Amino acid sequence: MQLAHLNWRQAQEKLADPNTVVVIPVGSTEQHGPIGPLGTDWLIPQWITAEMEKRTDILVTPVIPFGVATHHTSFAGTIDMGLETMIDIMRGVFQNLAKHGARRFIVVNGHGGNDPAIEKAGLELARETGALITLLDWWGIAPELNKIWTTGHGDAQEVSAIMHIKPELIDIASCPETTVNDLSDKLHFTHLSSVKFGDAHIKLVRDIKKGIPMGGFGGIDSQKANAEWGKDMMQAVVDYFVAFTEEFRRLPLDK
Ligand SMILES: [Zn+2]
Repeated sequence: MQLAHLNWRQAQEKLADPNTVVVIPVGSTEQHGPIGPLGTDWLIPQWITAEMEKRTDILVTPVIPFGVATHHTSFAGTIDMGLETMIDIMRGVFQNLAKHGARRFIVVNGHGGNDPAIEKAGLELARETGALITLLDWWGIAPELNKIWTTGHGDAQEVSAIMHIKPELIDIASCPETTVNDLSDKLHFTHLSSVKFGDAHIKLVRDIKKGIPMGGFGGIDSQKANAEWGKDMMQAVVDYFVAFTEEFRRLPLDK
């Protein structure tokens, strides 16, 4: 069930039921490497939640297409809300739905930069109302379901997902090589904002475009993306999220 398709009287009835599971898809509009679309982080949660809705009784809010993308603003098309604004956005969504009774929230998130904002606004709500809030970061869960679905940013994992859900957006033949400007002979990038020095990783606070000029990095190169990977991975993620939703629906509320 889509919140956007209900009238307010229908929404009032649905939200007043403490067993209603509200699902919030959230992402970001930001660079996703040389061939990944800017909407990758919200297109995927929107697709996942639409598939969940076919298989289990949930109330899905409109997708939140913007997030915390401060590291990516040197790349054209990125729209960054900043951390404080994103906390306000999440707080607004949680609080306005909870005001009418909602107490079970699943956030299906496509972007790691949003985690602190979702956790802060969610913890406030949990303390005020006893609501249960959970955060499903699909890209991090996928490699736990199958370790070959390794994760990075704007890399083969995300591009493969888009090749399955919106194949017309990917032209794999046009994908250039990833280039990396390592800091030195001893400091090699292992993720957008981290380098390896000896046996350990160091976090780097700097514009990522200087180190990773194409933007996509961290997992397997985008050139190796394929639709079959995307299909298998997205199906497994949806199966897992649906099973989790059934368990989540039965949990006792905190008060
Ligand atoms: Zn992403």
